[in-house]
Amino acid sequence: MGAGEKIHLDANESFLPVPQKLLEEFQKAMGEIPFHRYPDPEARLVCQAFADHYGIPAENTAAGNGSDELITVLFSGFLEKGDAFATIEPDFSMYAVNGEIQEARHVAIPKGKDFTLDVDRTIEICNNEKVKLLIFSNPCNPTSLVLPREEVRRLVSGVKALVVLDEAYMDFSTESMLPEFQRYDNLVILRTCSKAIGMAALRLGFAVAGHPVIDAIKAVKSPYNVNAVTQALGTQVLNRKRLLKEALETILRSRDELRAGVEKIGRNYPGIFTLLPGETNFLAFVLENPQKLCEFLDQKGIVVRFTGGLVRVTCGTKEENAAFLKALEEYCGL
Ligand SMILES: *Cc1c(COP(=O)(O)O)cnc(C)c1O
Repeated sequence: MGAGEKIHLDANESFLPVPQKLLEEFQKAMGEIPFHRYPDPEARLVCQAFADHYGIPAENTAAGNGSDELITVLFSGFLEKGDAFATIEPDFSMYAVNGEIQEARHVAIPKGKDFTLDVDRTIEICNNEKVKLLIFSNPCNPTSLVLPREEVRRLVSGVKALVVLDEAYMDFSTESMLPEFQRYDNLVILRTCSKAIGMAALRLGFAVAGHPVIDAIKAVKSPYNVNAVTQALGTQVLNRKRLLKEALETILRSRDELRAGVEKIGRNYPGIFTLLPGETNFLAFVLENPQKLCEFLDQKGIVVRFTGGLVRVTCGTKEENAAFLKALEEYCGL
């Protein structure tokens, strides 16, 4: 790392670079792209690779230019000006941004004091407010908390809205609804290649839903939304099961080491921060003066994210984690 370069633990990307061997396969795949032609509008090969990886039917998947694009597609396709959509705050900030662009009415349901999601209350508010679309992340960014599948089932069954379940971090947890999405006609699951899959630069996300919702998504998205390079390289990556499994294990190890290190500091300096018990590739801190910690870390060359009232720290390489832990300990000792 060159002088002046910062340690970025702020965007929840994977810290693992693409292995050399895979980079070589990328070059080969690139050489076979007919660049003078439009890409496959249905992105069939990459949808098939995604579907195979997660054990779901390819016909129920649609690809997007990142799951960010799919969020935009869902908001523009399923909401009209003045329609109500709900979020459970704090949550991923792009939901509210998309709602605003769509001039939809934002029903912002607050999470509980401990950042948990109250399913009964959410159902009640959504149905009372005639919410047409409910969107939330599970596990949640920024809280890192995961809602157990049983609770998700209850929520999806209880609301009259279309539920967009953003599982951007579900590779790090165990409560995915992918195995049972077909049981619900009001459920869309979003997944991304930007986090556990380690391909944030590729811009590749997927929507999974039963018919007719998935057909509506395909009809609304722009025809060539996923470019040929992303389709080709995404297919390469998603077909490398062993590599993905190893990468996931490495990230989980880093996450667990970082958590253990932070918990140890927490025991030595009680009362300075609380760590939420999450299942993601980042840790969420609750503390008195979050901005002060962020500024302190920034001066040490470590960039973290302050969002939704929490300090969010992505796990990194051994060296990056060590640098963060050293700085955190220093901060606690001030
Ligand atoms: C990172 C993230 C996304 C965006 O993923 P892309 O596929 O890179 O657009 C979506 N939702 C949540 C909750 C995220 O944290």
